[in-house]
Amino acid sequence: MTEVPAHAQAAAEQSAPSGFRGDDRPLYADYARCVHCGLCLNHCPTYRLWGLEADSPRGRIRQMVLVDEGRLPLGDSFVQHIDQCLDCRACETACPSGVEYGKLVEAARAQIEQNYRRPLPARAARNLVYRHLLPHPRRIAAAARIIRFYQRSGLQALARGSGLLRLLGMADRERLMPRIEDHFFFSQLGRTFPAQGKRRARVALFAGCVAQVSFTGLNEATIRVLTANGCEVLVPAGQICCGALPAHAGVRDVARDLARVNLGVFLREDFDAILTNAAGCGSTLKEYEHLFPSDAPEQKLAKAFRARMRDVTEFLDELGTVAPLGELRLRVTYQDSCHLAHGQKVREAPRRLIRSVPGVELVEMRLADNCCGSAGVYNVTQTSTSLDLLSEKMQCARQTGAETIVTANPGCMLQLRAGAELHGTGQQVLHVIELLDRAQSAATSRQ
Ligand code: SF4
Ligand code: SF4
Repeated sequence: MTEVPAHAQAAAEQSAPSGFRGDDRPLYADYARCVHCGLCLNHCPTYRLWGLEADSPRGRIRQMVLVDEGRLPLGDSFVQHIDQCLDCRACETACPSGVEYGKLVEAARAQIEQNYRRPLPARAARNLVYRHLLPHPRRIAAAARIIRFYQRSGLQALARGSGLLRLLGMADRERLMPRIEDHFFFSQLGRTFPAQGKRRARVALFAGCVAQVSFTGLNEATIRVLTANGCEVLVPAGQICCGALPAHAGVRDVARDLARVNLGVFLREDFDAILTNAAGCGSTLKEYEHLFPSDAPEQKLAKAFRARMRDVTEFLDELGTVAPLGELRLRVTYQDSCHLAHGQKVREAPRRLIRSVPGVELVEMRLADNCCGSAGVYNVTQTSTSLDLLSEKMQCARQTGAETIVTANPGCMLQLRAGAELHGTGQQVLHVIELLDRAQSAATSRQ
């Protein structure tokens, strides 16, 4: 990564907050890396859709600079262009100057959160989700029970069939809602799952927040795959939402509180690795340092945490799988999750794991590392753009002739499943771990 120029460092140290409330804003040392070359433009999904400089990485960085210098008001226009960014970080991959764009846009969103008054409905919805729901596992479970009743009682079919959802303008959003599982993963917190055979590693599993009500099956598959590969798996009690969604939305006080809880819980014991099966959570977990000032006491803990934090595919690829895998006879294509490929720079590990399954043929899709439009809650807040991106993604996935789309992030799985339904591609969507789990079951059932 390019070093920050000395003049930028000096200016960053000298620059005082420019009249904004709160401490959060993009820092000169970070945005000064941008040399305005424009090499990121054609990698940016929103620029590719609209061709507008203001909705490109370079244009957004320019607006951050102007706001910081007091030459552009922190008002509706700035907020709109920053909100329309997916935080997919494709621009980081493309940038030759090492601009950490994710860090910049999340700081800009925190600055907006602290200095801009959104309309009442938006404020109410953001407060409800980021402050009163995600940090509280019991409330997540209670909300999930209500949604499950809606999904199972026939109400969902009625609402969809009657046209009511379309009348309320909610038809597209409703389709993107996660399916709630029959049982939740919360009951597994505090448990230890022994390794099968000789123990090769002792790991802690980060189980997620919404994932504990909508991806119980994925978490269980993750434990089966890890234990079959010689890992003792602990699911530490007291763990909580990673803070990715609040951090991406600029609600940093909440993200910091959640990070402090997780740092305490996961650093209580020494593990060979701390694992997640959610790439979106993983990049925030690996970057807890970004949430705190450089001299904060949490920095040391965040660094120790980062040293152990791995995406589960990255970890299994490094460890080497030993569990027998049966044949699956599937043609699959892989969708890079943005926060795995661009955020964590993990691209080959999931592909190697997919190729390790006997009978599986991996066919690369065009634009595999282009965002599918899920992007945290982007598909809810910017639904029409999200659906445009999804449409392009499903076209690319269909062209491969694959009957299965494999990815490494629950958010992408939900979006791609909705895409398969909306575009009638008939493709199933699996996590890399679920593919391995199926292959392990196939091997067991053959014995
Ligand atoms: S994060 Fe994604 S949408 Fe945002 S500017 Fe970068 S490439 Fe564009
Ligand atoms: S973000 Fe990087 S690639 Fe994009 S204009 Fe700036 S220096 Fe160039």
